[in-house]
Amino acid sequence: MRVVIVGAGLAGLTAAADAMDNGAEVVVVEARDRVGGRVHGIRLADNLIVDGGAAYLGERHTELLAKIREYGLALAATTMDGDSTFLVANRRTTTATRVPPFGAVALGELFDHLEDLVEQVRPDAPWLTPHAADLDRLTAAQWLADVIDQRDARTFFPLFIGEMMAADPAAISVLHMAFYLRSGGGIRYLNAFDGGAQQWRIDGGAQLLCEALHRRLGERVRLSHPVYAIEQDAYGALVRCGPDAGAPCEIRADRVVVALPPALAQQIQYRPALPSPRATPATGHGCAIKVHLSYPTPIWRDSGLSGWSVSTSGPLLSTVDDSPSDESAGVLTGFVTGAAAAEFTRQSPQRQRDSVLAHLRRLYPQLPRPHYTVTDWLAEKYSRGCYAALFGPGDWLRLGPTLTEPHGRIHWAGTETSLEFFGLMEGAIRSGHRVVAELNDGVEPRSASRKVLSR
Ligand SMILES: Cc1cc2nc3c(=O)[nH]c(=O)nc-3n(C[C@H](O)[C@H](O)[C@H](O)COP(=O)(O)OP(=O)(O)OC[C@H]3O[C@@H](n4cnc5c(N)ncnc54)[C@H](O)[C@@H]3O)c2cc1C
Repeated sequence: MRVVIVGAGLAGLTAAADAMDNGAEVVVVEARDRVGGRVHGIRLADNLIVDGGAAYLGERHTELLAKIREYGLALAATTMDGDSTFLVANRRTTTATRVPPFGAVALGELFDHLEDLVEQVRPDAPWLTPHAADLDRLTAAQWLADVIDQRDARTFFPLFIGEMMAADPAAISVLHMAFYLRSGGGIRYLNAFDGGAQQWRIDGGAQLLCEALHRRLGERVRLSHPVYAIEQDAYGALVRCGPDAGAPCEIRADRVVVALPPALAQQIQYRPALPSPRATPATGHGCAIKVHLSYPTPIWRDSGLSGWSVSTSGPLLSTVDDSPSDESAGVLTGFVTGAAAAEFTRQSPQRQRDSVLAHLRRLYPQLPRPHYTVTDWLAEKYSRGCYAALFGPGDWLRLGPTLTEPHGRIHWAGTETSLEFFGLMEGAIRSGHRVVAELNDGVEPRSASRKVLSR
C-alpha cells in the first residue's frame, strides 16, 4: 500500500513512522523547508537552541514520553524555584506563590464555575454533552459576563485563557473552552508545572524529536512541497503539490493522510468535494507569540526570583525560566497571547522591541539588556497561529462528529483530530497512531467517485 502523508508535524511524522513499520510505502509531503511544524527550534547561539514552538510536557503525555525514550532524548525539568513577579494594575509585587494577587474568593468562585463546566463535558464526544447546543452557542466572554460578578475574576479570566489556550475569550465557544481544559487533563493538571503539563521540556529542544523522526524516514520526506489539491476515484488518489513548490509534482497514493490544522486542511481543493467542512468561518487559531530574552546566565535566580511572571497588560502577559539545564545561558521566554498578540503582530519590529524591553525593565529592573528574539506564529503561512485551532460558536456541533471520518481514501490526523490532549504534542502523536490503525483496519474506502483519474 502506498500512503502519502500531507504535513511533517509530529502527527504526520508519527503516522509516517507507524505506516513504514507496517510495511507501507510512505511519502511525506511538507510545505515548509523543515519538518516539525509547530515544533521549531530557534538557534540563539552556537550551543543554544530554544523552543520557538511547543516546549512543555508532563507525565500523562505517555506517547510523547515513549517517543522521547525511543529516540534516546533527555528531559529537562522546568524550573520554578524562587519568587514570582506580578505586574497587576501597574503595581509590581514579588511573592512565593504562583497565583497573581487577586482576591482569593473571586478566583475561588471562578474556578468553581470552570470546574463545573469541565466536569459536564463528554470528553469522547463533546457535541453530545448535555446542553451542547447552548454551550456551543455562547462565547467564553459572554459566559463570563453572565456568571461572574467579581472584578478580580473578570480581570484574571482572559489572562488564564490566554495562557492555557492562547485564546481571546471572545473567539471561542464555552463548549470549546470546557472541552480543551478537560481534554488536556483538567484545569489543575494543565495549569501546573511540578506534577502537571509543564513539568519538563525536551533537553536541547523539542525539534530534536522531529529531527530524529526525519532521519528515520530519510528520503521519504519531501520538503518544500505544499499540497494544493487531492483528487481520488475508486482506484487511487492523486496528491498535487505546488504551484509555488520548487518543482510542481503529482504523487499517486492508495491512501492519503492529511495531518494539518483544520483551517489549512480546508484550503486544499478536494475532488470529489468534502461532504462536510474541516473548518467554518467561526474557526480561529490560537494567538501566541514567543519572545526569547537571553542572558549569559540565569541572573534573576541570584535575586531569589523564579523568572515566572504574570502581567495584566501586555505585551508579555507571562514569562518563564527556560534556561538550559546546565545553566550555560539564561533564557526567559515571554508569552504574548490572545488579544495582546493580535495587536503585537501588527506593530513594527522596532515598536515591538521597545515595548518588550520597557515591559521587561518594569518586571525585572535589576536585569541587564537581553538578547531579544521574536517568533510570531500569526505570521506563519503554514500554521496561521497556535497553540492550536480554536473552535468558535457552533463549531463543535458542526465539525466535531466528522473530525476523523475518512473521505474515501483520505484520512485525517493532526492534534486537532485528537479528543485526548487536543492542541498538544501528545494529541498530535496520538492522532498519528490512530490514523495508521485506521489504515490497517482493512476497510475499503467509501464514498469516492468511481470515475477514473485522468492519467
Ligand atoms: C508557540 C507554541 C507553543 C506551544 N506550546 C506547547 C507546549 O508547551 N506543549 C505542547 O504539548 N504543545 C504545545 N504547542 C502545540 C503543539 O506544537 C502542537 O499541538 C503540535 O505540534 C501539532 O502537531 P501537528 O502535527 O498536529 O500539526 P503541525 O505541527 O501544525 O504540522 C502540520 C504540518 O503541515 C505543514 N503544512 C501546512 N500546510 C501544508 C500543505 N498545504 N501542504 C503540505 N504541508 C503543509 C506545516 O508546515 C506543518 O509542518 C505549542 C505550539 C506553539 C506554536
